[in-house]
Amino acid sequence: MEILLLFGTIGMPELLIILLILLLLFGAAKLPQLGGALGKTIKNFKKEMKEESSEKPSLKCPKCQTDIEEDVNFCPKCGEKLK
Ligand SMILES: [Zn+2]
Repeated sequence: MEILLLFGTIGMPELLIILLILLLLFGAAKLPQLGGALGKTIKNFKKEMKEESSEKPSLKCPKCQTDIEEDVNFCPKCGEKLK
């Protein structure tokens, strides 16, 4: 009640209560969305982490940007020396 008395000097404790209710309603309506979005983000993040860790480091030719095998010494496309 001290809070209400504090805001009572403004003379609108009812308005504050209404705002609080609106905030609670707004928050309740938004929370599942936020939770869902956060869950999706974490899920995607975990998926990306998993994919990245399981994936071989992809090498690219510095000259022609062709994907190349890890154990080749020359680019099969342009012949650029890689090692
Ligand atoms: Zn190349």
